[in-house]
Amino acid sequence: MKKPIIGISTITAFDEKFHSQRITYTEAVWNAGGESILIPAKQDKSNCAQIVSMLDGLIAPGGPDVDPDLYGEETLPECGKFIHYEDEYDMELIREAARQGKPVLAICRGMQVANVLYGGTLYQDIPTQFSREIQHSRVVKDVEIYHEAVLEPDSFLARILGEWESVKVNSSHHQAVKDLAEGFRIVGRASDGTVEAMENEDGSILCVQWHPERMQDMEIY
Ligand code: MN
Repeated sequence: MKKPIIGISTITAFDEKFHSQRITYTEAVWNAGGESILIPAKQDKSNCAQIVSMLDGLIAPGGPDVDPDLYGEETLPECGKFIHYEDEYDMELIREAARQGKPVLAICRGMQVANVLYGGTLYQDIPTQFSREIQHSRVVKDVEIYHEAVLEPDSFLARILGEWESVKVNSSHHQAVKDLAEGFRIVGRASDGTVEAMENEDGSILCVQWHPERMQDMEIY
């Protein structure tokens, strides 16, 4: 049987001479029965329609911060490095996937990109702009389970996770959703109120702030 082909966009933040992405994404796709294709971000976004047409699904993965200019804000000193054309390229991939009816899983930065694409805004830095209650940016131990996310029981996310009321998640982000994008609803929150998951009406764009691909062999309930 033909396996689903899942596209995963790459970043240059690890090394500007390489289009790269973490091994955990590709391994997670393989473990789930799919095949992975890495997609290099291009300044010219006109190839996105053809690229997406070759895919069965898209993962918008983690990476650096999102350019605040894309949601109409000045860059604060606490905002980290961003690469504008990579943000725009990832947005175009998501837009195309939605247009072509291909499901999207947006993870961490991918969720923030999706929120901005559909008109939302971000906290550029959670501790200085929102809350210090939970240290969401776990620089050293970001693969560890760290906080809970309470789920909306009737959400697509809760259904595919097995109807659980909450899950234990890792946390490797210092930005988060501020104003929610149009057409989405929040389906998971941390105890400090941070948006940890959102989805569109039919669940075809599913967004999580944590890294499920780093938790494949972990107990989350
Ligand atoms: Mn978190």
